[in-house]
Amino acid sequence: MTSFDIHNADNAQLQALQQQLQQAFDQLKAAGLNLDLTRGKPGSEQLSLSNALDGILAGNYTSDSGTDTRNYGGLDGLPECKAMFADIMQVTAEEILIGGNSSLTLMYQAVLFAWLFGYGDKAKAWKDDGKTSFLCPVPGYDRHFAICEAFGINMISVPMNEHGPDMDSVEKLLREDKSIKGMWCVPRFSNPSGIVYSDETVDRIARLGQIAASNFRVFWDNAYAIHSFTSDAPALAPIMDACRRHGTEDSVLQFGSTSKVTFAGAGLAYMAASKANLAAFGKHLGMSSIGPDKINQLRHLRFFNGHTSFAEHMKKHAALLKPRFDIVLDKLAGHFSNSDALQWTVPEGGYFVSVDTRPGLAKRVVALAGELGVKLTPAGATFPYGKDPQDSNIRIAPSFPSLADIDKAMDVFVLCVKLATVEQALA
Ligand code: PMP
Repeated sequence: MTSFDIHNADNAQLQALQQQLQQAFDQLKAAGLNLDLTRGKPGSEQLSLSNALDGILAGNYTSDSGTDTRNYGGLDGLPECKAMFADIMQVTAEEILIGGNSSLTLMYQAVLFAWLFGYGDKAKAWKDDGKTSFLCPVPGYDRHFAICEAFGINMISVPMNEHGPDMDSVEKLLREDKSIKGMWCVPRFSNPSGIVYSDETVDRIARLGQIAASNFRVFWDNAYAIHSFTSDAPALAPIMDACRRHGTEDSVLQFGSTSKVTFAGAGLAYMAASKANLAAFGKHLGMSSIGPDKINQLRHLRFFNGHTSFAEHMKKHAALLKPRFDIVLDKLAGHFSNSDALQWTVPEGGYFVSVDTRPGLAKRVVALAGELGVKLTPAGATFPYGKDPQDSNIRIAPSFPSLADIDKAMDVFVLCVKLATVEQALA
C-alpha cells in the first residue's frame, strides 16, 4: 500500500486517478453495504461484561451503611457509592452527588439551575445577567452544543491543541467578554480528539475562576476518566486539587458516568462540585425527586467491590476496543501517512478518532460514504451550530460495529477521502 500523494500529479494523472477511484466506488455501491460509524455506543460484547449486575443483589437490598435501598431518600446517593466515585473523580465524598443513569441529564440540569436560579447568593442567575456565552473547545461534543442552543446561549469556539483548549485564547476571551458564563471541557480522551489535557492546562482552567465573573462555571465532563486502552496512557491532573490551591472551588462542575463502564442505558451518573455548589444544586434537585435509584447504586457497589474492580473491568473493555481503533488507525496510516490529504488523532483511550480532510471536503466525504451505505457523523456536528468553518472535521466512532464491519467501513472511508480530494484538485 503506498500513501496517497497527488502533490506532483498533473491534470491527466488526476483524471486517470479519478476514473480509477470512481470505478472502485461504483463496484462498492453495488455491494449494498449498511454500516454505521456514527455514535460512540459500547458494542454488545462490552455490555455483556457487566451482565453480572443482574441478580447480584440476590434479594439483599440493604447497603453496608444500613440503608434499605428499596425505599425513598438518599438524594445525593449512598455514602459507599459516593466514596467509590469520589475516587474516580479525585474529590472527597462530600463533593459528589450520585444521580440517575445519565450524566448528560445532570449537565442539562446544572445549566438549567444556573440559568434560572444561580449557584448561591453571589452567583447571579444567567437569565438575569444579560447575554450568556459559553466557550466551546472545538472540535467538541455535539450534545454539549445542543444544550447551549436550546437555551439560546451564545457559543464561542476555541481551538484545541495537543494540550487541550488553547488557553491563551480562553484567558483573553474571558478577560474581554463578560458575557462568558461557562465553558465545556472533556478533559481526558476528549470527544472527538482523544486529547488528554496537560497538567498546565488543568491548572490554568482551575485559575479561570480568578478572572471570570462569580457565576462562571466550567463544565468538566470527565466522561472517559478511566477509559484508557493501555495502563500507561496519560493521566489527568485532579482539577479540584488545583482549584483548592487557587481558591476557585466554586468555578468548576464535574460530571461522569458508568455509561461506558457498565450499561450505557442503565448505569450511574455523578456530579462532583464544591460543597456550596452541591448544596445549592441539591436543594433544587430535592424539589424534583425524593431520591435516585439506590438499588442500581447497590448493584454497582457489589459489582465493583466484590465481583470485579474498575481496573480489571476497564482492561476487558480495552481488549475489545483497542483492536477496533487499531483497524481505523492502520487504515489511515496505510493510506495517508506523509499525505496532506488527511490528518488524524491517535487516541490512547475514549471512543473516537478525529480526522481532518483538506478544507471544504468533510461534507462531501460524508455524503459519498453515505452513498456507499456507510453512515458517518454529519460533518459539522463537532462544531457549535453544526457549522465547521473549515468543513474538514469528521468524527469516527468505531466502538459498536464488528471488526469485519469496521474494516469494510474504513475501506469505504479511505476511498471517499481520496475521491473527494481528487475531485477538488481537478475542480
Ligand atoms: N459526555 C461525553 C463527552 C460523551 O461522549 C457522552 C456519550 N457519547 C456523554 C457525555 C453521555 O454520557 P451519559 O450517558 O452519562 O449521559
